[in-house]
This record gives sequence, C-alpha cells and structure tokens, in this order.
Amino acid sequence: MKHSLVVGMGLAGLAYAEQLRRKGLSFHVIDKGFGGSSKIAAGIYNPTVLKRFSLAWNGDLFHSYALPFYNELQDRLKSEFIFPTPVHKIFSKVSEHNSWVVASDQNSLSPFLDPQIHSIINTEIKGIYGYGKVNHTGRIATQTLLNDFIQSLNTNQFSEETFEYNKLLISNTVVEYKGIKAKHIVFCEGYQMVNNPFFNSLPLVGSKGEILIIKTKKLQSKPIIKASIFLAPMGDDLYWAGATFERNDKTLKKTLKGREWIEERIQKIIASDYEVVDHITEIRPTVMDRRPLVGTHPDYYNVHLLNGFGTRGVLGAPLLSKWLLDYIMGQFELPEIVNLRRF
Ligand SMILES: Cc1cc2nc3c(=O)[nH]c(=O)nc-3n(C[C@H](O)[C@H](O)[C@H](O)COP(=O)(O)OP(=O)(O)OC[C@H]3O[C@@H](n4cnc5c(N)ncnc54)[C@H](O)[C@@H]3O)c2cc1C
Repeated sequence: MKHSLVVGMGLAGLAYAEQLRRKGLSFHVIDKGFGGSSKIAAGIYNPTVLKRFSLAWNGDLFHSYALPFYNELQDRLKSEFIFPTPVHKIFSKVSEHNSWVVASDQNSLSPFLDPQIHSIINTEIKGIYGYGKVNHTGRIATQTLLNDFIQSLNTNQFSEETFEYNKLLISNTVVEYKGIKAKHIVFCEGYQMVNNPFFNSLPLVGSKGEILIIKTKKLQSKPIIKASIFLAPMGDDLYWAGATFERNDKTLKKTLKGREWIEERIQKIIASDYEVVDHITEIRPTVMDRRPLVGTHPDYYNVHLLNGFGTRGVLGAPLLSKWLLDYIMGQFELPEIVNLRRF
C-alpha cells in the first residue's frame, strides 16, 4: 500500500510528491497530462508586490524555504530550471521614485528592493523615469521542472490519465482507486477542483490569464522587465509577455481582446519589432479571500486538498506542501488562514 495517492501534477502535486519522497514515503501521482496553470506560468519568483511596493503575503517566509527546496531538486534531477535574474521595475511617473526609496528602507523589503533609481541603458526599452531593481528574484522554468520530475518517476509512481472521482473507494483505513491502495489521497487539481465532488463547495473563483510568447532579437534583456505587464526572458530571443486577469470568462479560449491588450502594453515597453510565436490561456486557482486552500475533508480524515495558490504558486508550493504533510502526520498545526475549514 502507498502512503499517498496524489491527483494532479502541477506545482502543488509536484511539491507534495517531493515532500513525500524526502520523508521516504511512497506515492502514486495521477495527472491527465495536459492543461494546468503551472505549465504556462512565467514561473517568476518575486516575494514583492510591484504594484504597491510591498511584500507579498508570507513573501519572505515562502521565498526563504522555496529557493533551497528548488536548488536541492535541481541538483537531484540533474536539471536546469532555476534562472536567477533581477526584476527591473520600470517607473511610469517621477512620484514613484520617492515611494520606491521609502519602501526599500523597510526592514522586510530592504533585502529585495535596491534603493537606487537606475537610468535605462537598453535603448530598446522605453521609459524616461528609469527603473528600480529587485534582487533575489528570477524564473523557474516550470515546464522543464515538471517534465524532468515526471521523467524521474517510475510506472509505480506516476500514471497519465484523467482521475474519475466516482471510482474512488474510501474506508476508514484505506483509499482505493482502480486497484491502487493508499493511506491518504491528496487532491492538487488547480482550477479543475471545481469538478471535484469532495471540495467543489469551496470558493475557488479562478481567474483566466492570457499570455503571449514573443520573439525579438533586438531586445537582448537578461533581467525580467516589469511595467504594466511582465516581459520575462526565456532564452533564444523568446520572451513571456503577460498576463491578462479575467474573472468572468472561465473558458480556455484565446481572445483577440486579450492579445490586443497584451500587445498594446508590449509596444509601450519596448521599441523593438517582435513576432508573436504563441498565445496561451489558463485559469489561475484563485480563492475568494486570496489565500490557499489546504487541509483535510471534514468527513474523511484521509482525503486532503492542496490548492488555491492563485497568482503565486512558485514560491508558495514548497512550504505549503510541507505544512500539509506535517499536518497530516500530526506534527504541525495548520495556520487558520490557509486551512480550508475557514469556509
Ligand atoms: C498566465 C499565468 C501566469 C502565471 N505566472 C506565475 C508566475 O510567474 N509565478 C507564480 O508563482 N505563479 C504564476 N502563476 C500561478 C501559478 O501558475 C499557479 O499558482 C500554480 O501553477 C498552480 O499550481 P497547481 O498545481 O495548484 O495547479 P495546476 O498547475 O493547474 O495543476 C493541476 C494539475 O492537475 C491536473 N488535473 C486536474 N484535474 C485532474 C483530473 N481529474 N485527473 C487528472 N489530472 C487532473 C491538471 O491537468 C494539472 O496538470 C501564473 C498563472 C497563470 C495562469
């Protein structure tokens, strides 16, 4: 019998499986093999909120746990998915200079926000007010991470199929799915949780994001550029550009409106010609109160959830997955603010 059956292999399922592995506990992950917001995310890790020059919720705590977690994983997988690089926040008005300097002086932000106001030297980047530099940031190439992690699993640990909820059998001591027996089941389906009969009463609102992948030889930017949108270098003159934030449309349709919205912003940020090589959409697993959904089903002690990472799965997944496993093992009290029982 396995320790855990994990449904979904995005950042949540991956981090949870890795926590189990580090504790020497057995697992089997089921993932349908397509979709999910982890695969299209820019993968930017940035513990600050650059719209408000503030720290993201638990930004420093999540950051301090996540980076060693990914480094250890990168070494073990002999992979390359961590790309540290500063974020350059392009200022849109002179008054932002003062707000930036004040913010960078705060204890919680000073490790990240460089107080200096820099002039833009890359002539392909527009902007007369310069930029502020965010340190200890970068990009996790989530596709590479997920692919390499899956490659490292054997057929007893991973299967590619759509999980059918009505085939799950639950008793006091075991959960069983198509012959796979485990002590626990942990659901990590991202926005697809809306189809999960055990947890779909929770307020996972979801917000659609459209992104473009553009190619431009001239730009030659190594840092991630943040203005009204992010432009994140992916290598080979490709840049991830986005994203839109749409609460009402929950389809995966690419829209002309979304593409135009992003392109307008790209053209305000860079002078370079570019080619759009891809246009992708996904739904972020956002929650009504913008906090994760972690914990155990009120009626089944062996049915659990790890979800609601919203716009910041990269930094949150490692520590939140540890919290859930330690909680299930009776070694940790889940903070009320993330516990799904708050609803
Ligand atoms: C446009 C966009 C940009 C983003 N950029 C960033 C960023 O730069 N930095 C950051 O930190 N976060 C970013 N995010 C947010 C981040 O992507 C999410 O917080 C995170 O990826 C959620 O991970 P997850 O594992 O919970 O869900 P998902 O990544 O959605 O994974 C769920 C997995 O479960 C599988 N699944 C679902 N139902 C079933 C089923 N019934 N059977 C089998 N498998 C199933 C899916 O196929 C999928 O593989 C972005 C999101 C979007 C949409």
